[in-house]
Amino acid sequence: MKAMVFRDHGEVDQLHLEEIPEPTIGPNDCLIRVRAAGCNYNDIWARRGLPGMKIIMPHVSGSDAAGEVVGVGSEVASVKAGDRVLVHPGLSCRVCEACTSGNELFCREFKIWGFQTGPNDGAHAELAKLPAVNLIPMPANLSFEQAASLPLVLETAWRMLVTRARIAPGDFVLIWGGAGGLGVMAVQICLLFNARPIAVVSSDEKAALVRSLGAEHVIDRRTEDVLARVREITGRRGVDIAFEHVGEATWAQSLQSLKWGGTIVVCGATTGFDAPTDLRFLWNKQQNHLGSHLGTKAELLAALRFVESGQIRPVIDQVLPLADAAQAQTRMESDQAAGKLILVP
Ligand code: NDP
Repeated sequence: MKAMVFRDHGEVDQLHLEEIPEPTIGPNDCLIRVRAAGCNYNDIWARRGLPGMKIIMPHVSGSDAAGEVVGVGSEVASVKAGDRVLVHPGLSCRVCEACTSGNELFCREFKIWGFQTGPNDGAHAELAKLPAVNLIPMPANLSFEQAASLPLVLETAWRMLVTRARIAPGDFVLIWGGAGGLGVMAVQICLLFNARPIAVVSSDEKAALVRSLGAEHVIDRRTEDVLARVREITGRRGVDIAFEHVGEATWAQSLQSLKWGGTIVVCGATTGFDAPTDLRFLWNKQQNHLGSHLGTKAELLAALRFVESGQIRPVIDQVLPLADAAQAQTRMESDQAAGKLILVP
């Protein structure tokens, strides 16, 4: 089968469309024919290499896929050949105390499929292998491309806002990268909960996109003072929740934008991990600092109900052939993407 492979860390010239062996499935696995695969920042982290994390080579990236089941293991009864599915990218043992108490993310064997797995085990290929438990029936109202745009960012944004930050009606939520992969989901989740997203963007096109999703408050970080605008929008009170994934470049502004007793929830650090916190403000303002990572299958299922009802919609920037994975990654790295980039094998 054809797959987008890299064998060494580096720039996008490490990515090569190659012929590799088809995955072999175990008794609890399924084989899916990938009809569309999402791009995520993890694909870039894996290709660049992350200190302290071993990326298994040769590596096929891709943690979001939608396609048809073409093979099922001998023990699989939950899906059958021909089913249209999307994937939950969190892999865990499913038998330990963490997994059986609904905390699969705390399983000692927890991995993100297509990021921490391998060799040759991700969505950016013609065929992909996953445990049957990771497959979810595709909502009937979605195309393969739309379905592939959702899982990783939808479950991450859902966990950040709903499970961790406990978003409530009326909350002001500062969303960095409002038109990015996570951002477009976060804006829609806010509206679902009758909260008030304040979406930060860096182009007119992205501003138009978040407005079309229903965001009333939009800040262009190129031309506006984000903090001053947050103070104006919230009547000097500050936001209830800061939705963080940019890291070093925005952490200080996120903290300053937060109301007393507010919550900052963070899942990433695109611009760097070294983001200092002045502890005096943390205790005096009694703010909540929450980490959040991916989401559980249950959180993805909960969020997908609102995709089925049309209250959360997929947002696609571009659909490209798998051969153009490098172009997709460059577009993400240069903050051009508005919504999700999709690769079609
Ligand atoms: P995208 O590239 O789709 O969006 C990121 C957005 O961040 C960009 O659109 C850009 O928006 C904004 N941004 C980039 N640099 C800056 C800056 N200096 N200041 C302000 N805003 C900036 O990425 P994703 O939304 O998919 O992911 C974002 C991060 O979250 C990544 O680091 C990723 O690894 C992490 N992540 C972590 C997950 C987890 O489970 N822990 C899951 C998913 C993502 P604009 O230019 O319009 O302001």
